Amino acid sequence: MVEQNLINRQTLLDLVDNPCFIVNQHLQVCAWNQAASNYFNYLEDNITDCNFFDLNLDPKLPFSKTELLEALTKSSKKDTLCFEDGFTRCELHVITDNTATHSQIIIKVKPYLLCEDQEKLNLLQNIIDNLPEYVYWKNTELEYQGGNARMIAELGFDNLNDFIGKTDSCFGWGNERIEILKKIDKEVILSKKSHTSTEEVTFSSGKIKTLKTSKIPLENCKNQVIGILGISTDISNEQKNNDNQQALINRLIDNLPEYVYWKNTNLEYQGGNLLVAQMLGLKTSKDMIGKTDLDFNWSIERIQELNSIDNQIISSGEMHTNTEDVLFPGVQQTQTLKTSKIPLKNDKGDIIGILGISTDITEQKNIERKLAEAKNLTEQTACAKAEFVANVSHDIQTPMHGIASIMTMLTRMPYNEKQAPFIKKLNQAIKRLSKLISEVLDFSKLEKNQFEIKLQSTNLRNVIEENFIFVEPLADKRGVRLELDCPDTVPRHFNSDPHLLGRILGNLLANAVKFTHDGFVKVKAECISETATMAQIKISVTDTGIGIPPDKLKFIFEPFARVGLSDSSRYKGTGLGLAITKKLVARLGGTIEVQSKLEQGSTFTCVFTFDKQTYKIQDKLTALD
Ligand code: ADP
Repeated sequence: MVEQNLINRQTLLDLVDNPCFIVNQHLQVCAWNQAASNYFNYLEDNITDCNFFDLNLDPKLPFSKTELLEALTKSSKKDTLCFEDGFTRCELHVITDNTATHSQIIIKVKPYLLCEDQEKLNLLQNIIDNLPEYVYWKNTELEYQGGNARMIAELGFDNLNDFIGKTDSCFGWGNERIEILKKIDKEVILSKKSHTSTEEVTFSSGKIKTLKTSKIPLENCKNQVIGILGISTDISNEQKNNDNQQALINRLIDNLPEYVYWKNTNLEYQGGNLLVAQMLGLKTSKDMIGKTDLDFNWSIERIQELNSIDNQIISSGEMHTNTEDVLFPGVQQTQTLKTSKIPLKNDKGDIIGILGISTDITEQKNIERKLAEAKNLTEQTACAKAEFVANVSHDIQTPMHGIASIMTMLTRMPYNEKQAPFIKKLNQAIKRLSKLISEVLDFSKLEKNQFEIKLQSTNLRNVIEENFIFVEPLADKRGVRLELDCPDTVPRHFNSDPHLLGRILGNLLANAVKFTHDGFVKVKAECISETATMAQIKISVTDTGIGIPPDKLKFIFEPFARVGLSDSSRYKGTGLGLAITKKLVARLGGTIEVQSKLEQGSTFTCVFTFDKQTYKIQDKLTALD
């Protein structure tokens, strides 16, 4: 009868899909079903009377002996106890008859993978199997509890069950890696914080892959960590692209003619191009990494200077540019470098180092030096020439005065008709030569700043009218009108040099009349602005003459600027008049400019700021005289 009962019990037990054990109140195994034999690895054939906790079940159940005993003492007589750890749920049905000695406990194991919601689980497994990532999860003992097909296959397993229960030490990875993985896993479990890392992994197939792995703590409904979920993405291709890109960037930088390098905030070189490495006496740019300027044969002063610049960039975030002669330790030749150092920032904008770019401008500097030398030499030669011309002109001026006085005497003596044209031509030639000599001398004096100014009360209207007298004969001869527009709004007296002002206006008027054949020549004076002491006066000389070609306008004030060969034969002149005029204007603190249109005429405009006040006093004094 008893035997019959037992058979029935076993048959019933075997009908249950979940692994089940029946234990007595001493936790000795009385019975178990086929599902339990299948589910637990290494379940001995005959475990009758064995203590349930001596079975060393694999996979482990979610309760310890102490936890079970504690729960049993607390439970009422007929009760169901539940234990779960996220992977397995265990239901313990405590069956007590009247004689407590016959109490029995049915332990029903419900692994989540075999739970009632099998369909949902299958779907879930299907989804994760199709993920491009490697997905796996471990319990707190760091034993794999599941994973997707990709993960299992890559680790050399055909089915999930073989994989479950394995640890990282089962895959032939080196001890060092196993220790690192263990450390990370424990850290995730203890800290309850995810961890992400990238590493190169060699799989059992021999394949090497770069994986980016995130490990996430798995928690149960009571927020207890019950394991780790790992997701690894194969970024080998991405890495390869990055490597290719890095190689391309390296090649680009290496091919730059500039010296390029970068340092971290500890001022340690983190990279650079080959050019810098070689100049520093290294073979490759990799050899620079980790070195500081102290590692190279620079002088102490230079190291201090470099460090101070670098630290300043890091603290201020501002770039620094300088040009200096550098003697590189690797080549022993001095180069002139123009260097820009820029703060390097990360995505958040924090300064993480310095980028330095230096351009070798030795050649450019040499050319500049040679040019400066050549310019100096040219200036010296020009100076010597001007000096020579001035000296010669000065020396010629004395006999010239003699010739001019003899000429005057000669014209007063009787001469016959045949001699008359020769005497006239000789007289003209002597006058022109004298003018040329005096202009050359004036110009050289102005060049050397030796032209004296004699400030005195100056009446602008008088100065203009005096100069009209000189040009009137030629203007009359040509039928050119001379006009003066000097309204009363223009102050009468200034503190200026009337002689110089007269020369300026005289030159401009002489040119205006010389180059005008009909129409008018007009002098206009305007007061642009005025205070109690100063007046800004604009004086313009306008003509309706031949005008100046636009391309010649820009060098019209240069010495010996004769506008065109055709002109030079038609209009006599030295080509010094405007150059002298410009210098005289500057000497009086003014400016001069020209506007002109071919065949329509020209306007030369001077602007002066005259001092009024001094000469009000002077005028009063003159009035007192
Ligand atoms: P020059 O003694 O030859 O007149 P300037 O220096 O006074 O020397 O003038 C230089 C040149 O500028 C002249 O030869 C002439 O071609 C041009 N020029 C100066 N003033 C005028 C003007 N008012 N109209 C046209 N051309 C002018």
